[in-house]
Amino acid sequence: MNSFLPFTRPTIDEQTIAEVAQVLRSGWLASGPKVKAFEAALSQYCGGRPVRTQTSATASLEHALLACGIGAGDEVIVPAMSFVASANVVVRTGARPVFVDVNLDTRNIDLDQAEAAVSARTRAIMPVHLCGMPVDCDRVYALAERHQLRVIEDAAQAMGSSYRGRRIGSFGDLVCFSFHPNKNITSIEGGAVVGGSPEEVHELELHRFHGQEKSAADAFETYFAGGKANLTDVAACVGLGQLRRLEEFNARRRDLAARYFELWGEDAPLALPARGDAGHNWHMFAARLPLERLRISRLEFIEAMAARGIGIGVHYPAIHLFSAYRALGYREGQFPNAERIGRETVTLPLFPAMSFEDVGRVVHATNEVLREAKR
Ligand SMILES: *Cc1c(COP(=O)(O)O)cnc(C)c1O
Repeated sequence: MNSFLPFTRPTIDEQTIAEVAQVLRSGWLASGPKVKAFEAALSQYCGGRPVRTQTSATASLEHALLACGIGAGDEVIVPAMSFVASANVVVRTGARPVFVDVNLDTRNIDLDQAEAAVSARTRAIMPVHLCGMPVDCDRVYALAERHQLRVIEDAAQAMGSSYRGRRIGSFGDLVCFSFHPNKNITSIEGGAVVGGSPEEVHELELHRFHGQEKSAADAFETYFAGGKANLTDVAACVGLGQLRRLEEFNARRRDLAARYFELWGEDAPLALPARGDAGHNWHMFAARLPLERLRISRLEFIEAMAARGIGIGVHYPAIHLFSAYRALGYREGQFPNAERIGRETVTLPLFPAMSFEDVGRVVHATNEVLREAKR
């Protein structure tokens, strides 16, 4: 019997572990030289644009909105299919998230619906590069220009993705990455905002540290009651070790995804994800179950796969159906594609340390479970 195959798992190399030990012995654990170095390396990766790190992409997104001056009375357009953080951060600024549906196959925001959702109160749009598949950035930025909107890209899943040959983060307005352990590279927890005017970058620095600025060894000013979301040097050290491996990790993810498509060919027993192009970083391999043709529920599928030693994820339930968003007036039936994805989605294992044999195991188990479950 093979060991349990989770749907994802980070790869931390021995060199990184040794470097973390050095940081732990250095006497400097909170934000210090490693954070500076990580931000510089991320900036270099993103074409020299400014980068400020935070303790999570959730904080990055919230601070990016605040740095744009978004708050009460404003509206931000958000896809109904994403991790709930995309909408939560808008609510936390006091603004209203205005949901729109996504495309059933790419799972990315429907830009016709986004354009129709623009009102006099709309200040920004938050496209999400779901599963690492880039949104149509040309159309997003053309729409934003037509309506004078800011663009806060939720690129939590898009580290190393590119759009028409340009890296996500190397162009555009404010772009937010996540370094949670499930993402393509990790800093344990962590996030970053790429871009912004010098004033906005300053705002980002204030938001992550008490709204406070130090101008001399004995001189501090606090401009507003800020929170605290500065990265640690331990986290940044892990992030630096991961960034060195990003291209290699993503190349491996692309090969593993290609293997799934190759093994399933045209007759997969479930709806495979859109294939995208070479700019897809394959953050996740998320398929849809044909529930109407099955005698089992998604939960029973997950349990049957677990019994075969395979972990299955669910990314994500449609955001507008959570009680926090029903309370804002959202209802079932408003965003059919997001709702359908929310019901049918299953994330199959995909991470750099997987073997082609592991992919074969997942395909075999899936075929077996779904064959037995056919109506
Ligand atoms: C992971 C994720 C986030 C939040 O990232 P954290 O670093 O965990 O705060 C936000 N949006 C999307 C689409 C994500 O996948």
